[in-house]
Amino acid sequence: MRPESLFPLFADVTGLKGVGPRIAPLVQKVAGSLVRDVVFLSPVGLITRRRMTAVDAVEGEVGIFEVVIDRMFVPGKPGVPLKVRASDDTGFVHLVWFGGSPQHVDRQLPRGERRLVAGKVERFNNEVQIAHPDIFPLDQADRIAATEPVYPATQGLSSRVMRKLVQAGLATTPDLTEWQDAAWLAARRWPAWRAALTALHDPASESDLSPDAPPRQRLAYDELLAHQLALARRRRARQITPAPVITAGEASQAVLAALPFSLTGAQAQALSEIRADLASGQQMGRLLQGDVGSGKTAVAALAMADAASSGFQAALMAPTEILARQHYQRLSPLLASAGITSVLLTGRDTAAERRERLNGLASGAVQVAIGTHALFQDAVRFDRLALAVIDEQHRFGVGERQRLQAKGDPRSGGVHLLTMSATPIPRTLELTQYGELEVSRLMEKPPGRTPVATAVLPLTRIGEVAQRLRAAIDGGAQAYWICPLVAESEVSDLAAAEERAADLRRILKLEVGLAHGQMPGAQREAVMAEFADGRLPLLVATTVVEVGVDVPNATIMVIEHADRFGLAQLHQLRGRVGRGAKSSACILLYGGGETGLGEVARERLETLRRTEDGFEIAEEDFRLRGGGDPLGLKQSGFPAYRFADPVRHRGLMLAAADDARLILGRDPDLVSPRGQSVRVLEALFDWRNDRPGLD
Ligand code: ADP
Ligand code: MG
Repeated sequence: MRPESLFPLFADVTGLKGVGPRIAPLVQKVAGSLVRDVVFLSPVGLITRRRMTAVDAVEGEVGIFEVVIDRMFVPGKPGVPLKVRASDDTGFVHLVWFGGSPQHVDRQLPRGERRLVAGKVERFNNEVQIAHPDIFPLDQADRIAATEPVYPATQGLSSRVMRKLVQAGLATTPDLTEWQDAAWLAARRWPAWRAALTALHDPASESDLSPDAPPRQRLAYDELLAHQLALARRRRARQITPAPVITAGEASQAVLAALPFSLTGAQAQALSEIRADLASGQQMGRLLQGDVGSGKTAVAALAMADAASSGFQAALMAPTEILARQHYQRLSPLLASAGITSVLLTGRDTAAERRERLNGLASGAVQVAIGTHALFQDAVRFDRLALAVIDEQHRFGVGERQRLQAKGDPRSGGVHLLTMSATPIPRTLELTQYGELEVSRLMEKPPGRTPVATAVLPLTRIGEVAQRLRAAIDGGAQAYWICPLVAESEVSDLAAAEERAADLRRILKLEVGLAHGQMPGAQREAVMAEFADGRLPLLVATTVVEVGVDVPNATIMVIEHADRFGLAQLHQLRGRVGRGAKSSACILLYGGGETGLGEVARERLETLRRTEDGFEIAEEDFRLRGGGDPLGLKQSGFPAYRFADPVRHRGLMLAAADDARLILGRDPDLVSPRGQSVRVLEALFDWRNDRPGLD
């Protein structure tokens, strides 16, 4: 239930003076449909007006002139503006309207009257001119603020009208009981909520527009805290769902003994976090984050062995057939050494194979299922599914994950979820996208990896690169050659990849494979399999090789137009090499010649050259990315932030996450006085009525 104190803010904008049926949809487009949305619309700029006269008018600045209206010139033909000549003691000021109505202008500026006119000064034929001026009666001189915020505008809704609406909205905005901790507010010197909102709309200088201005920081923190509270509450809701108790047993000991290595400290730590969840009797929701090659599979295998030896079943789902197959080939012998049977389910099983495997799962004779999307199809039934592991989880939709999880036995409670991601993400991103999950991180890589030597070169040196490639291949190496595929022009980019494959075939006189996303899946996987088996020395591909394929003999990665890729993606691609004992190389080719690379692009590629630490790369990528919705909030079911800037307010986000945990830890049902005001905060940032049908 929404607190009564918020009713004025959750009133429809049409209740504000000046919002009629014409304006309402425009306001909704720019800000939203509620008074709250209008007062939450931050100014994006500032205009400073000063008094000027015709003789000292400064071009490009915004001036206020006191003038007498002289005469109007109505245009005789289209394309010529309507013009009014006005003057002060020093000279003429010309006021112009493109597409203006003479009647309307005449009413606002009757001949012989004295008015204040304001606007950006232009010079046209050496005359002082203002296009579409603001007009005020003389007695309102003090109403024309010297500085005025500028709001996002749209056709038919000017910044000036928006400003009036904001002011009207502010007038109905209530004072709310403070929800922030008093000591924290004092330490940061942040104003109270309503004062912060008022200050937001009354900037006196450019620095007040900065995300670091105290009122903006305060509002951003409110927003971040509200979001983190919502996520923390969802997490709690999941945690109280009962789920089967899974304990570590001898089976996982046997699997561990069968592994050709011992676990790294990071793997052991992650495994113990997972085990604590699985044994808790409450449903696990955990993300295992680790760089490519950090050894997530082994951790998952041990958890699955625990599930099997506790009398349950587990499923491991991967996004591609080749990856599922690879997992099965590696894991089934390991599991078998502990007496655990497993099956592979993909879209390409024969009917007979499929029937037999499905029977095994339904009867409980088979304990572990490994597969692709085939796993969550309706025909698949489990006897006692208790653990779902999702590899490369970002490749699956929430719905797909839920369909797999829904295959548990409702009588034994929820199915534990372990998702794995090989795309390291910054903490901030983790907090928003996976705020509902607990996170284990594999920060340390298994020993014995050879670093990948990375070079950044202009595309003009492609000939040289091809010759070096030829020499390496003669020496027995295999190489990937990646061409970018940009969504808007897929066809021509595809042509470029095909052409590149043909070029390389001709120049290097080698067999060259081609794999891209528009090939039929089976055909593409056949080419990839040929490469994986060592039958093809060179594979030209679009980013389809990005996901988890493991070809240890491949030691060279050439990425064409590397500047068009995201850093995380480049890191993923590079992670395809350096998997064996032999030394590997990655060559990043950029377009546009020696000087063709912008500052940010250079910095990005340089980051990649400098480090192979996926978490460091992710943080850097995040920092260098600007604008938009870098957190992907919209995808995660939250609208993009109004106040918070995920990059600039990174520190605040981390603090808000801690704060949310602390608040709910002390007062899980939010019943204390602070809890009550925190509820108001949550309700204030409740966007649900903007998105009917969601939640
Ligand atoms: P990812 O985290 O990318 O899924 P994998 O689980 O595929 O990584 O592991 C990558 C490689 O590292 C595999 O060949 C695996 O056998 C090996 N590996 C995993 N853990 C260790 C370890 N503790 N010591 C040595 N090698 C390991
Ligand atoms: Mg993996």
